[in-house]
Amino acid sequence: MVKCNDAITWLASGKYFPLDNFYIAPFEYQGKEYQTCEHAFQSMKTMDLVQREKIRLCQTPGEAKGLGQLVPMRLDWEIIKYEVMYEIVREKMVKYKAIAELLLSTGNREIVEGNNWDDNCWGNCICAKCKDIPGRNCLGIILMRIRIELDRKINIYRCPECGHEIITEQIDEGVTPFIVTCEKCGEQAISAMYQCNQLHIAKFEWFKPKNDEEIMIELRWQNKTFHSNRASEEELQHSLKETRALVIKGGLILRNKQK
Ligand SMILES: [Zn+2]
Ligand SMILES: [Zn+2]
Repeated sequence: MVKCNDAITWLASGKYFPLDNFYIAPFEYQGKEYQTCEHAFQSMKTMDLVQREKIRLCQTPGEAKGLGQLVPMRLDWEIIKYEVMYEIVREKMVKYKAIAELLLSTGNREIVEGNNWDDNCWGNCICAKCKDIPGRNCLGIILMRIRIELDRKINIYRCPECGHEIITEQIDEGVTPFIVTCEKCGEQAISAMYQCNQLHIAKFEWFKPKNDEEIMIELRWQNKTFHSNRASEEELQHSLKETRALVIKGGLILRNKQK
């Protein structure tokens, strides 16, 4: 791995220790409280629930790591472990705003989980034996992925009727639609302000169609009717059918992100 001069290369102590998996910051994962990310990660290695609980209740992250190496490992662990690590680290960031702020304060610097215990999967070992082996730095990459997600702008629409929240990602701040139809009750949910530094997962995104063919869609809002004149193309028609999307002021289409 090529490192920039200003890369952060050590998490196990010092200023960036809160980003480390050994940092004590209790949080909930899959309905249980874990003292550190290490406890949670090691617990997930096994399907044996008794062993899992033993790891969870270890006094220190070091003990949890040690015990995690002795338990019968779930068969798909090598496949799922990266996503499990991402989910766990993310949970910590969601709960602790100060740690999320610390992560954001690293800007676009490379984050490397430097170590001297030969871990070239999650980090990059700097010992004499490993110094020519490039570490894959999977934990550093996960931290950088979460950093991008923290920085993303989203918009939250709240339904006045049932309180349901619809979270969208915006493509263009200047033309944000201000109402959407509530998925739960059909009422009109109102746009709140843009928010940054949130780890909400946006389920919908606003999409600007390319085609200029005009269509009219009616939208009721406080007993008034709004009209929109914007694009019709195959994708748009599809989007309308699949998600009951509305084209509203500004000519944007709300569509399900999973599509
Ligand atoms: Zn080493
Ligand atoms: Zn509602």
